[in-house]
Amino acid sequence: MATEAPIEVETRTHQMFPVLSDADIARITRFGSIRQYPAGACLFRAGETGPGMYVVLKGVVAITQRDGLGHVTPITEQGPGHFLAEVGQLSGRPALVDGHALGDVETLLVPPDQLRALIIAEADLGERLVRALILRRVALIEAGASGAVLIGPPDSPDVRRLENFLGRNGYPYHVVDATRDADAAALLEQYGEAQLLAVCPDGAVLMNPTEDALARCLGMIDSEEHAELFDVIVVGAGPAGLATAVYAASEGLRVIVLDCRSYGGQAGASARIENYLGFPTGISGGALAGRAYVQAQKFGAQMMIPAEVASMDCSQSQATGELAVILRDGRKLRSRTVVIASGARYRRPAVPRLADFEGRGVWYWASALEARMCTQQEVALVGGGNSAGQAAVFLSQHAAKVNVLVRGPSLAASMSRYLIDRLEAAPNIELHPHTELCGLHGEPATGLAGATWRDNRTGAEHDCPARNLFLFVGAEPETTWLEGCGVAVDRHGFVLTGQPASGGFPARPAAPLESSVPGVFAVGDVRSGSVKRVGGAIGEGAAAVALIHQHLSGAVTTA
Ligand SMILES: Cc1cc2nc3c(=O)[nH]c(=O)nc-3n(C[C@H](O)[C@H](O)[C@H](O)COP(=O)(O)OP(=O)(O)OC[C@H]3O[C@@H](n4cnc5c(N)ncnc54)[C@H](O)[C@@H]3O)c2cc1C
Repeated sequence: MATEAPIEVETRTHQMFPVLSDADIARITRFGSIRQYPAGACLFRAGETGPGMYVVLKGVVAITQRDGLGHVTPITEQGPGHFLAEVGQLSGRPALVDGHALGDVETLLVPPDQLRALIIAEADLGERLVRALILRRVALIEAGASGAVLIGPPDSPDVRRLENFLGRNGYPYHVVDATRDADAAALLEQYGEAQLLAVCPDGAVLMNPTEDALARCLGMIDSEEHAELFDVIVVGAGPAGLATAVYAASEGLRVIVLDCRSYGGQAGASARIENYLGFPTGISGGALAGRAYVQAQKFGAQMMIPAEVASMDCSQSQATGELAVILRDGRKLRSRTVVIASGARYRRPAVPRLADFEGRGVWYWASALEARMCTQQEVALVGGGNSAGQAAVFLSQHAAKVNVLVRGPSLAASMSRYLIDRLEAAPNIELHPHTELCGLHGEPATGLAGATWRDNRTGAEHDCPARNLFLFVGAEPETTWLEGCGVAVDRHGFVLTGQPASGGFPARPAAPLESSVPGVFAVGDVRSGSVKRVGGAIGEGAAAVALIHQHLSGAVTTA
């Protein structure tokens, strides 16, 4: 056992910084061009759009991190045979670190589109490259020294909100505690009204930013017009949308994926998915989605996250076969097909002041971040389904006590037996049957301070000083953006596909995953009749691509 850890670390480091052989470099040569740099020259700078992947041919490049507060930390030095890139270079995103020539340097520069072509054309070499790109991003996230810097009190709801956003999007960041760090406190004071500052890698400082403003500053999304006509616009980057993107892009279609929050959707909020095929010990939703996100980009799918779709324009679909989606910021994207993969949004129970505490102690998911906030605390969780059960078991490993509130007499009708067994086996989970949440206490600025629940048989009320409350009371389809486009939905708002959607087609019935508007498909949780499972969502994403090909080629398939 004693020798295992160093070997593991060495293997990981070796995978993260592999040395390419002369034969490997010869295979890469046709994808790049030679670039020379004198001593001291900057090859790439954190916060600026990365030119692609560099392979060092001669000399040494020093990689350093700046934290936006003026601190510079050396990461590594890379010599001949090393390549310089991390996952962001697959899609031409801004660099997260700085690279400077130590002495004269000669490199082979492979731009993002050629990097993707290389990874696909040279499969075994591509596998080594992609593994290294992912491990480097993971290392940057774990080190918490590059990317965005959030300055403020670490327990402030706004700091948590942005941490959550960056964490869910796999973007490195670290928090500087303004109550302990004198430099940070002085900077915060300079900005007067600011409760929170975000420093981007290029040095730009944002005061109390929204997620959207921060994403733009970090280069996660652009503000440019996209005039091209896509083959497929995918709305939603949950499992269904990401699967659609992987299959469509790998089959040569021009694809863009839009999501208003982060990749992974509801599954991204799952601490452990245990029933997804091929992962006998389970996998976190974030890890599964993170891999799919990179995989889709490897095949050339474009990602726009965060970007909210406000509406869809189908007015030209009959005449030209062209569809369009309109983003919340007013931009319009055109496509020959649209895949609705917008899933479901969490249902909100009717409790006074709920909105005051959302993101400030009231959560609709339980990831590692929320679990950390609950360490050794008493928490409450509402819901009796499988996602509630998973979250309760997960939180019980961190919290002092987890109170599970269910309206009915037991969990038997709504939760899988294996989860009920685990709940019963956990000594710090208490089940409260016949119980409903009725009050929330505290101030929005300082977050939730407690909750009250009521026995629905006796009316007896109980106060609990829970500073974190988890709500898992089901979900409703995210379809408001479809209103006005003629997409038929069932009485609960889920999108109809196939035979039930055929009414909108005078000439032909809808294909199995096609909605009532030709060329508009629906997959995953948003679709009427779907199984509401990760496996189902992914299968539908894959199946939709075959139908998209048929639509684009003018062939007809009936339900
Ligand atoms: C906590 C939890 C645990 C779960 N555990 C499991 C499990 O163990 N096993 C299992 O099989 N299933 C599990 N599920 C269910 C599973 O996560 C869902 O079935 C699956 O995520 C559905 O995928 P989807 O892609 O259809 O939709 P979603 O995952 O809901 O993704 C939809 C995406 O669309 C985006 N979106 C919505 N509207 C817009 C818009 N207007 N513009 C842009 N983007 C938009 C959203 O931000 C979201 O990212 C769990 C669910 C939860 C909440």
